Amino acid sequence: MTAPHPPRTHIGNHPLHPETQMLNYGYDPELSEGAVKPPVFLTSTFVFNSAEDGRDFFDYVSGRKEPPEGKGAGLVYSRFNHPNSEIVEDRLAVYERAESGVVFSSGMSAIATVLLAFVRPGDAILHSQPLYGGTETLLAKTFLNLGVAAVGFADGVSEASVKAAAEEAMAKGRVSVILIETPANPTNSLVDVAMIRRVADLIGQKQGHTPIVACDNTLLGPVFQRPIEHGADISLYSLTKYVGGHSDLIAGAALGSRALIKQVKALRGAIGTQLDPHSCWMLGRSLETLQIRMERADSNAKAVADFLRQHPKVETIHYLPYSDPGSAVGRTFAAQCSGAGSTFSFDIQGGQPASFRFLNALKIFKLAVSLGGTESLASHPATMTHSGVPAEVRQRIGCSRCNDQTVDRHRTSRRPHCRPHPGTRRSVGRNLQRRCQQRTG
Ligand code: PLP
Repeated sequence: MTAPHPPRTHIGNHPLHPETQMLNYGYDPELSEGAVKPPVFLTSTFVFNSAEDGRDFFDYVSGRKEPPEGKGAGLVYSRFNHPNSEIVEDRLAVYERAESGVVFSSGMSAIATVLLAFVRPGDAILHSQPLYGGTETLLAKTFLNLGVAAVGFADGVSEASVKAAAEEAMAKGRVSVILIETPANPTNSLVDVAMIRRVADLIGQKQGHTPIVACDNTLLGPVFQRPIEHGADISLYSLTKYVGGHSDLIAGAALGSRALIKQVKALRGAIGTQLDPHSCWMLGRSLETLQIRMERADSNAKAVADFLRQHPKVETIHYLPYSDPGSAVGRTFAAQCSGAGSTFSFDIQGGQPASFRFLNALKIFKLAVSLGGTESLASHPATMTHSGVPAEVRQRIGCSRCNDQTVDRHRTSRRPHCRPHPGTRRSVGRNLQRRCQQRTG
């Protein structure tokens, strides 16, 4: 596995689509008794052929030396690397069109490890808002306690507003990371990645150190959005969501240039935020169907959003294709995303009590946090995923009305007393199309 036969990426001059490469890339059956699928390598450590190999492999895995051209880095110890993580890392990098990838035990450990790799006490992190609640809390509590300030901006498509936040951040310390999440969970707010790149370069000129631009790409990537192509340095994932896609694992990833990912990987090895072989194997399985799952969920979500948009009890629906094409959000959406995905929120009449009644009445949607699985889920961010975010921050970023969660559309339309409440979030899985057809057709 350390030095597989060259992977097939082309037929003649024809480059293979990542969807095709997910079935083969990075795994050579000849190294595993001809097994079509990679085995799960349940081992903590690996035997060296010689002491010299052991010495060299430690040099490679620690980043002290580069392996010779055409030779793998060698397998050492599963906290550093193992065959199942290497296969998935290589495949994710292919999908994202990135040079390199690294997987983690969760989306949060991916975000935390990347931040720890690039920030130092006294620095400031400039970030978009809203962020996933766990990320917001990580910045506001853990990193603040480590002496790292955080300055947020709510309008991710206004260069003036981001520049103003950048000045504020630079006044607090060296800005070493710009962390963005686009579209944001739960509001679907967009951040213009190309504009953030310009601001990062401007900060670099002013303070003599260009911040790393890290983008949480969980909601659309890699099928509908690839931030690195628009100027981000690192694309971050909770693989727990669409990439895993079956609500049966927790995992994360970071993709980017070889040089940056090498630094992140070294820290992962040091603090042990690696992903286990079994979860990596499951991710490999999931990557084979990622494209069809995301495309199907995207079209199902459109059917549901179109229904909700016309429903008299729905006040606002935060679904990207409905943005004005002439607005900054509409232009960013067109330039940056090739689809809207299937996670969105909406505001419904009746306040939190009505929203809770609505959620409690769901029959097919499951009342659960998370997104991107085959099932359809509904939740209430302000009291659940974002309950750790202070109320005034939720107000500022405009998701205080997204408190009240999702609704089963069928039940809402048939039982008028079960009113959705403002800010319902919905993650639409693949099973929904059938339901929409049954109910609307
Ligand atoms: N980023 C986003 C956008 C999320 O929605 C989540 C979880 O919901 C995370 C990161 C954290 O991921 P994990 O739960 O895999 O740690």
